[in-house]
Amino acid sequence: MARYTGPVCRLCRAERTKLFLKGAKCLTDKCPLEKRPYPPGVHSGRRQRKMTPYAKQLREKQKVKRFYGVLEAQFRKYFEEAERMKGKTGDNLLILLERRLDNVIYRLGFSYSRRHARQLVTHGHFQVNGKNVDIPSYLVREGDVISFRESSKNNENIKAMLEDLKTKAQTPNWLETDWENFSGKVISLPTREDVSLPVEEHLIVELYSK
Ligand code: SF4
Repeated sequence: MARYTGPVCRLCRAERTKLFLKGAKCLTDKCPLEKRPYPPGVHSGRRQRKMTPYAKQLREKQKVKRFYGVLEAQFRKYFEEAERMKGKTGDNLLILLERRLDNVIYRLGFSYSRRHARQLVTHGHFQVNGKNVDIPSYLVREGDVISFRESSKNNENIKAMLEDLKTKAQTPNWLETDWENFSGKVISLPTREDVSLPVEEHLIVELYSK
């Protein structure tokens, strides 16, 4: 299945949740969800329709997939991995997604959105522990150091972007941003409480357990 390339704000409206796909605009009153907090489309209906249990499960799954920018097949693999791990499958699933390199870069404050972070990674701007990594789904581990490559540190566009982002960044406790050295560190692995998206992950577990 191809990656969605249409207007991303429609995805938030479909989920009736802010998925923060557009960077700075998401934090302003220009966010379309502020004015039109109902699904897109002429016949979508502005009233909240009663959803079937299956529809609720499906919506929760779609919401998480869209938040992290993951396609169905890859999402299913994360679920299978989460099932194999110790502990609650729903918690494990969210923690695995939170450990993705593109998410970590966004949460360190080095990009405007997860989508933007993915682009920066695939364009080869980052290293993990001194080695080039251009795979957005790379899972970080405790102690990993994520940094811009030397060539990227001298890139005027990157420098201007970081000057701008520095004033807005809110790095979570499990990460540490070193703005001076264009790098960040994974202090500890994230926990379920570190996931900022409001989600009922047990519905996703129920959906995939049928
Ligand atoms: Fe668009 Fe961001 Fe608002 Fe979502 S949160 S509707 S991506 S501006």
